[in-house]
Amino acid sequence: MNEAEGNEGLKDFIRDRVQADLAARKYPGVVTRFPPEPNGYLHLGHAKSICLNFGIALENDGICNLRFDDTNPVKEDTEYVDSITEDVKWLIDGWADSVLSEKTFFASDYFEQLYGYAVQLIQDGKAYVCELQPDEWEEYRGVPEKPGKESPGRSRSPEENLALFERMRAGEFADGEKTLRAKIDMASPNLHLRDPVIYRIRHEEHHHAGDQWCLYPMYDFTHCLSDSIEGISHSICTLEFEVHRPLYDWVLDNLPVPQPRPHQHEFSRLNPTYMVMSKRKLLQLVEENHVSGWDDPRMPTIAGYRRRGFTASAIRNFCQGVGVTKYKGLTDVSLLENAIREELNKTAERRCAVLDPLEVVIENYPEGESEELEAVNNPEDEAAGKRSVPFGRRLFIERADFMEDPPKKFFRLGPGREVRLRYAYFITCQSVEKDADGNITRLICTYDPETRGGHAPDGRKVKGTIHWVSAEHAVDAEVRLYDRLFTEPEPEAAGDFLESLNADSMKVVTGKLEPSLAELSPGERVQFERLGYFTPDAEDTAPDKLVFNRIVGLRDSWAKIAKK
Ligand code: ATP
Ligand code: MG
Repeated sequence: MNEAEGNEGLKDFIRDRVQADLAARKYPGVVTRFPPEPNGYLHLGHAKSICLNFGIALENDGICNLRFDDTNPVKEDTEYVDSITEDVKWLIDGWADSVLSEKTFFASDYFEQLYGYAVQLIQDGKAYVCELQPDEWEEYRGVPEKPGKESPGRSRSPEENLALFERMRAGEFADGEKTLRAKIDMASPNLHLRDPVIYRIRHEEHHHAGDQWCLYPMYDFTHCLSDSIEGISHSICTLEFEVHRPLYDWVLDNLPVPQPRPHQHEFSRLNPTYMVMSKRKLLQLVEENHVSGWDDPRMPTIAGYRRRGFTASAIRNFCQGVGVTKYKGLTDVSLLENAIREELNKTAERRCAVLDPLEVVIENYPEGESEELEAVNNPEDEAAGKRSVPFGRRLFIERADFMEDPPKKFFRLGPGREVRLRYAYFITCQSVEKDADGNITRLICTYDPETRGGHAPDGRKVKGTIHWVSAEHAVDAEVRLYDRLFTEPEPEAAGDFLESLNADSMKVVTGKLEPSLAELSPGERVQFERLGYFTPDAEDTAPDKLVFNRIVGLRDSWAKIAKK
């Protein structure tokens, strides 16, 4: 078995089933697939499906196919094919890339073969051409308790059906004029078995198949046969397809497909709080400009998380932790936030940045001079070593670290109070300068040269330690502070999900950063001490402009709100 990070000991009903099938020698090996429709970017729910399909292949020395389920030319696009390919590769990189099929599969590559299977059904009297129109469908389909009515086309001979089907392919009919339906059971309590449509006419060019077709197979006909063509053993999908399974089985049982044939297994969708998890709604957010694009760092898309600075491993750990069940429930999004926080606490180097700057002048520090102080890169990882940070007469501290009239429990800076500047000296605030409106503009302080490195030789203690940057050396950066995109745990529960959009989901500030941060590249992540984890924005950072994204804060700020 490969190094299956955190996969050891993973156990659920699907994995049990895979083990049972292997023990019974039902399949020569495990072949799974991840089958997105290229009609949007991948989201966190897809990440769960990727972790499951690739994880099971990895644990069993199998393979996992990336297959585009591209049967609907109207909503699909190569932009999505490209983004999905990139996102899948990014998510499994260094973990399960060894089980990814070398080739990328497209259901549309099977159109000719699927057409042949449809012809076979027609010849066997198991499919027929139907002329019913959408306004008649409901009446003919019936309701679960009451059988449907037979379409007039149902009694046509195979020869006639075949001739019509060929003419459908040749483009002789308009969209919707005719369909091909499987002849199953108009009285079945499962409506999916009441002669489902398996082909429809769409005079539409296809992003992958080009203009060869005006006849397109439906999902239920395509999916099981694509699984069969690729030799899939376990076809894993979400619960809404459970009612489609009898149709999946019917198609494979009524055609001469190779054995052993694939079987479908369903699990419940990932449904995280404070998010919407459907491509249609995410597309709406993009099209109506509620976000800057599919990769907006507030979007629950894989591209959004990547740009925001999340690691693939944190997303995978979250998905594995949630587990695989048939239970429909909500997943607390703070589990994902904790996963990235926990990882970055161990791996991210510490740096200093001030996001709401207040100037401090150390009046007894020699003018025009500066010095380099030693700072620890990561207290959780000694190997990360140390760096030097410049210190001088003028500094910036966070405005929130000073109070003119501090309450008892406030241990940071106030008039006449002494605090430790992280890695530097003790300073005492001597006086406060204000503008004409009474706003504090500057603090005049003194430092104790004996306290270099943050300790007083006389053993004197201070209660507070604050961070700072040297004003002379600081670099400016645009810093984007993200918050959850929705204010409601279930944005869809109360009707229009747009109503619970969080108006404060992004705050932009100009930060003062320690100079080493100018060297950081997108993909590198740091902790801004006391503030959170940050990374340069891959899209908007330019040689003359630093832009940082907040990946996640140091603590869960929503936990406090929930307790109030
Ligand atoms: P959406 O509802 O967002 O449009 P979809 O199910 O139509 O998603 P597909 O591209 O058809 O998206 O899905 C590819 C695979 O990902 C399918 O096997 C599907 O079951 C799975 N999947 C989609 N959403 C989720 C989710 N929220 N949780 C787990 N798996 C999911
Ligand atoms: Mg879909």
